[in-house]
Amino acid sequence: MTGTQRASDTVHIIGGGLAGSEAAWQAAAAGVRVVLHEMRPTRMTEAHRTDQLAELVCSNSLRSDDAANNAVGLLHAEMRRLGSLIMRAADANQVPAGGALAVDREGFSAAVTRALAEHPLIEIQRGEIAGLPRADWGNVIVATGPLTSAPLAAAIRELTDETALAFFDAIAPIVHKDSIDMSVAWFQSRYDKVGPGGTGADYINCPLTKDQYDAFVDALIAGEKTDFKEWETNTPYFDGCLPIEVMAERGRETLRHGPMKPVGLTNAHDPSIKPYAVVQLRQDNKLGTLYNMVGFQTKLKYGPQQGIFRTIPGLSNAEFARLGGLHRNTFLNSPKLLDTQLRLRAEPRLRFAGQMTGCEGYVESASIGLIAGLYAAADARAKPLAPPPATTALGALLGHITGGHIETIEPGSRSFQPMNINFGLFPPLAHPPTKKPDGSRLRGNEKTAAKKQAISARALSDLDRWIADNLRIAAAA
Ligand SMILES: Cc1cc2nc3c(=O)[nH]c(=O)nc-3n(C[C@H](O)[C@H](O)[C@H](O)COP(=O)(O)OP(=O)(O)OC[C@H]3O[C@@H](n4cnc5c(N)ncnc54)[C@H](O)[C@@H]3O)c2cc1C
Repeated sequence: MTGTQRASDTVHIIGGGLAGSEAAWQAAAAGVRVVLHEMRPTRMTEAHRTDQLAELVCSNSLRSDDAANNAVGLLHAEMRRLGSLIMRAADANQVPAGGALAVDREGFSAAVTRALAEHPLIEIQRGEIAGLPRADWGNVIVATGPLTSAPLAAAIRELTDETALAFFDAIAPIVHKDSIDMSVAWFQSRYDKVGPGGTGADYINCPLTKDQYDAFVDALIAGEKTDFKEWETNTPYFDGCLPIEVMAERGRETLRHGPMKPVGLTNAHDPSIKPYAVVQLRQDNKLGTLYNMVGFQTKLKYGPQQGIFRTIPGLSNAEFARLGGLHRNTFLNSPKLLDTQLRLRAEPRLRFAGQMTGCEGYVESASIGLIAGLYAAADARAKPLAPPPATTALGALLGHITGGHIETIEPGSRSFQPMNINFGLFPPLAHPPTKKPDGSRLRGNEKTAAKKQAISARALSDLDRWIADNLRIAAAA
């Protein structure tokens, strides 16, 4: 280090996956020196097969590319406007996949690896960071993903606390509130308990008769499930997070005494009839647009999940922002641990990016790598960067990770769980569209589509303004 160089002038990025690769590209594009540390091929994960950067470990799809009607398509569009390397490599290696952006996986990873290796400000070092990053690295991004190597995970766990880093996600489905039929469901907390920060009517309750409950239990047991991978079965997970179908298999009444217990609840639409079982949904985000199905983590395949959950009274037209799952995954309790710029509150030289922060998926992980790279570059240049607007896909996802989620009040499994980008994370429109261009009223699916298109248009115009106000000026300075 020269006399004028500071420890934070160089950004050290740990993990050359989707997030780390994008972060390296963004920081270097902003004129900052980067050292990218990737442990493969010296040490492999259970899922990676190559030594290439940004390897896609499973599907070769980056999902929908429809920026007007799909939230992940909108995130693609925003990332392209921000000069994303992941999007550039994906576009250059696209294979036919209808409305989805699918890629030739070898060509894609090779393009990312080549671009990073050829960048004059980026040095790639192969080798595991087997503990906390060196103390003299002042500006670090940890982007080691769902399969973070054990010594680094243990060191992070020690630095935070033992409940702050999870090794398994236990995802309950999340439903868009406006798709729940409130002529069947009702708001009430069990025994009308107010609790800390509650109102006594915090949950949405869906009632089942005995026949409906029996049919539901049969469907859960018969439904097709995904298997745990062999290496996942060695990871301990807690009895508090049992999949609902496993509970159903343990006995016909188990769910009725567990997450579907009807006690302390009165059907507001028909107080004279006691429900045989009740499914409860709890507010999941501060905006109040998303509700999660309490205790409904599951290994059912996505198709059967939708079909079975829509048999629950009140959820027949439910739109799912996220379906349930249970996977090996290393991720932080980010809303508590990270500041708005993704820095660990307990040790701000460490910034986190990618799936470790609690986003889910290739594109989301890369997008959080992108903003982490910009923030790290801003720190290195001592030029603060304003946060992306909450109305953009990037800002909405970042907001969810660093504070938009509502912590559960019950003991048991942790409530912050990984999330894909979806329209429920965006602030509602001040004036949602109500009419078509010809003046006739919008209804049903047309109304939903018009709302999504208006959210997307608002996002892209707000992003352009943010880029003009912050990044062009920053690049010129
Ligand atoms: C089995 C499996 C299947 C998946 N399937 C899909 C799918 O089909 N579609 C989808 O969108 N998402 C899928 N995901 C999620 C996907 O992995 C992530 O969304 C995405 O890859 C996360 O990006 P990331 O950069 O955070 O982590 P990764 O892409 O995993 O990158 C992390 C990198 O850090 C490196 N690393 C780890 N520890 C260290 C260390 N101590 N020192 C140095 N380097 C280290 C790893 O080798 C890796 O290259 C899957 C995940 C798993 C585990």
